Amino acid sequence: MALTGLQIQKLLPKTNCKECGSNTCLAFAMKLAGKKAELSECPYASEEAKAILGAASEPPVKTVMVGKDTKVGGELHLYRHEKTFFNQPILAVNVGDTDEALKEKVDQIKNYVLERVGEILTIGAIAVTQMQDDSAKYLDAVKTAAESGRPLILRAKNAATAKEAAALIKENGGIIVNSVKENALELAEAAKENGLVLGVTGTTLDEIAEITAKVKEGGFNDILLGIPADSLAQRFQLNTVARRAALGNIKAMGYSFLHFIEDDDIYSVLREATNEVCKYGGVIVFPKLDVALISTIMTLRQNIYTDPQKPIQMEPGIYKIGEPNENSYVWVTTNFSLTYFLVSGEIEGCGQNAWLLLPECEGLSVLTAWAAGKFGGDMIAKFLISQGLDDTQKNKSLIIPGYVAQIKGDIEEGLPGWNIIVGSQEAGDIESFVNATLSK
Ligand code: SF4
Repeated sequence: MALTGLQIQKLLPKTNCKECGSNTCLAFAMKLAGKKAELSECPYASEEAKAILGAASEPPVKTVMVGKDTKVGGELHLYRHEKTFFNQPILAVNVGDTDEALKEKVDQIKNYVLERVGEILTIGAIAVTQMQDDSAKYLDAVKTAAESGRPLILRAKNAATAKEAAALIKENGGIIVNSVKENALELAEAAKENGLVLGVTGTTLDEIAEITAKVKEGGFNDILLGIPADSLAQRFQLNTVARRAALGNIKAMGYSFLHFIEDDDIYSVLREATNEVCKYGGVIVFPKLDVALISTIMTLRQNIYTDPQKPIQMEPGIYKIGEPNENSYVWVTTNFSLTYFLVSGEIEGCGQNAWLLLPECEGLSVLTAWAAGKFGGDMIAKFLISQGLDDTQKNKSLIIPGYVAQIKGDIEEGLPGWNIIVGSQEAGDIESFVNATLSK
């Protein structure tokens, strides 16, 4: 649990020597409480202070690495609007050792890419479930899936097979899931040896808490929880109960969640995956690759896992669409990423070669930026000149968003000789605007 500045000050030497850069130990303690300083900046901090403050600075939900690059957990809040969520859930797809054309399936999962608002989104892991008793076939399936290079989630029928499979995926990294309560400790050892995470499943939250406590006592703490539930309503409730408990410093619940969606009905998948994205899921395993569903959930995830205090924004500047030259039209909009990608996509879709000007609008949308005084005629004119377009363009035509038609006069004053054209209000109407206006 986070300590207050006064609680931290009691652990400091209280000599006010200023070597940490603060005038007093109390001032330094306040910085530590606000996570604006680190204890190592005080050369006189005692071992007791290091131990207590180190534990207190751990996030209530443990951060674990799934594979080499992907973190899950590390969350501090129940609601995104309290600050932000930090580490987005991994979306994984399940395959089975009885699947036909397994290699092709694995390749499809590996090769699926969605580009949205400038981000490249992929499927983060592959789960391999043992469907039959033949361990050799399961291990073959694991080897095939491992060729993808993605982290794997191992769901074997018994500990012996799971341990053999774990040794095969050291390079990939991933998660090993216990099949029954009794084999959790044995699999924790295998996870530790092979650099994997342990997915703890159980029949009740109490049983899961009991297992995680024992695993932690045994010296292993890279854990995800498989929350047991009979219905979506119960899952929503239990996920919330477990996360509230974690934030209330119940350490046995202080982990992110691993959820396998078993029912492959598309609406069930959509409901369950939506619940997990919104309610604290760490790893969500889809029953099969359905790109329509996955792309929908990727879009939702992208929206939930952004900082609500920071709009996603583009660098201000001038962007090329196609192969523009001195005879191309110049368009202007704000540097809100979504606006940029919608507008640029529509202009490109019309076959236009164009310059797209994005002044600094703090990532706000057109009307919001205009209402906040950050997208006015004078600043647009100055920005266009600063980008050199007044010198280089023979076609001095600037297209402005239809929603801010009222700034046309101000731009004309700032850009003598330019033809200011009021474009469509919505990006979706750009094509009809181009056909009706520019192609004449
Ligand atoms: S360096 Fe340590 S002892 Fe000195 S003022 Fe800072 S916190 Fe206090």
